[in-house]
Amino acid sequence: MARLIDLFHDYLFVPKCAVCRTRMDRSGNGICERCRFAYEDLKAEYCDFCGMEASVCTCMPQNLLMNGCTDYRKLAFYKNGGETNVVRSMVYGVKRQHPLALMRFLAREIAALDPDGITAETVVTYAPRSPQTLKKYGYDQAKLLAKFVAKESGCRFQTFLRRRRTKRQSEQKLLNYSQRLANVRGAFVLCDAKSVRGKDVLLIDDVVTSGSTIGECMSMLYGAGAKSVTCRSIARTYPKNKHKID
Ligand SMILES: [Zn+2]
Ligand SMILES: [Zn+2]
Repeated sequence: MARLIDLFHDYLFVPKCAVCRTRMDRSGNGICERCRFAYEDLKAEYCDFCGMEASVCTCMPQNLLMNGCTDYRKLAFYKNGGETNVVRSMVYGVKRQHPLALMRFLAREIAALDPDGITAETVVTYAPRSPQTLKKYGYDQAKLLAKFVAKESGCRFQTFLRRRRTKRQSEQKLLNYSQRLANVRGAFVLCDAKSVRGKDVLLIDDVVTSGSTIGECMSMLYGAGAKSVTCRSIARTYPKNKHKID
């Protein structure tokens, strides 16, 4: 009987890997060894453009460059619509499953990308989800991630932006690039414009693709007088090969 209780206890309380859901020992940090190794491999994948490892590369999409981004870093690349890899699974989990252990792990990783680039004066914020998506999943993954990054970096977290209702994702898929860009313009509202003035802002998002959303957030923050805006994300996606990153 005692053995049965032990087994039951183990089943209930032994943590599962936040990525592949296999059971693992308690000493793990939410990620099993196999996923951890696969993740490290992806972090070390080369950027086709600058030849640096993904987690060191500072190449950024045009939309970030044009909106005055002073520094952009990500943990890894993954191909949009491509095969599943561990980073893609992490992003999927972060968006839909509210996995706190995984969020903490990724926040630690993001905070470690360029620790000197984040000072005690940096204010960490995020690109908010649309009200429709927030309602569907019940939380904002970028907000949670930003809070954890602020905690890991020893700096302040603040919400600067709110998102208006925009076209649904299913509708957005039918839009071409310039229509999507037009759709994202005016999508954000500043919550407290005065508090942005003179701040070094670190903007967090889960995934950056064309950078149109994050670029719009940057333009709002600079418009309200931010001193600098840097950006970090879990991943940057690319269409077919990294040479064609826009
Ligand atoms: Zn795993
Ligand atoms: Zn690069």
